Amino acid sequence: MRSRTTFDLQYAHRFYGFRGEAQYLHGHTGVLTIEVEDSVEPGVNMVFPCNEIQKTAWSVLKNFDHALILREDDPLLPAVLAVYDKQGIRNGAPTNTMKGEAFKTALATAYPDCRLVVTKETMTVEGMIKIVYDLLKDKLNIAKITFTSGVNAASEEYPVTRTVDRCPACGIALVNGVCPKCGYKK
Ligand SMILES: [Zn+2]
Ligand SMILES: [Zn+2]
Repeated sequence: MRSRTTFDLQYAHRFYGFRGEAQYLHGHTGVLTIEVEDSVEPGVNMVFPCNEIQKTAWSVLKNFDHALILREDDPLLPAVLAVYDKQGIRNGAPTNTMKGEAFKTALATAYPDCRLVVTKETMTVEGMIKIVYDLLKDKLNIAKITFTSGVNAASEEYPVTRTVDRCPACGIALVNGVCPKCGYKK
């Protein structure tokens, strides 16, 4: 069975080199849905507690919320960074506190100090799904990701071949056979 969690992400981007109106900088509230597949853990009668999926996924997704997302070759990138430098906010500001943990993958690099994500490919809904899967595939048994942004929407399904040992009292993944929340030992 699957547990499903949805996130709202508010961000600005543009499609550099695209001939439509999306070549101009603009913003969205994107809606990302992650479906996690596993057996139903009988102790809690759940696949996985959705608030735990939220916690795990949000630790990286936070980087996309209230952020600017630009492709690595977009000339806006050095232009924006030059302004942030001049203002002294490139490496953070006292009010920039709702930050995710920085990450770097082959597809994207997050700079939470200046609320920027730099991507290898254009950040379309398809591009976002690739980035998110890559970031979370080792942490969650992701079976499907859906992303909608304005009128654009895409989804991708992934084969799930493993099962995760979970705590029968908390439902969360055991770490070396021990529940990190309640101390249950398998
Ligand atoms: Zn857009
Ligand atoms: Zn537990």
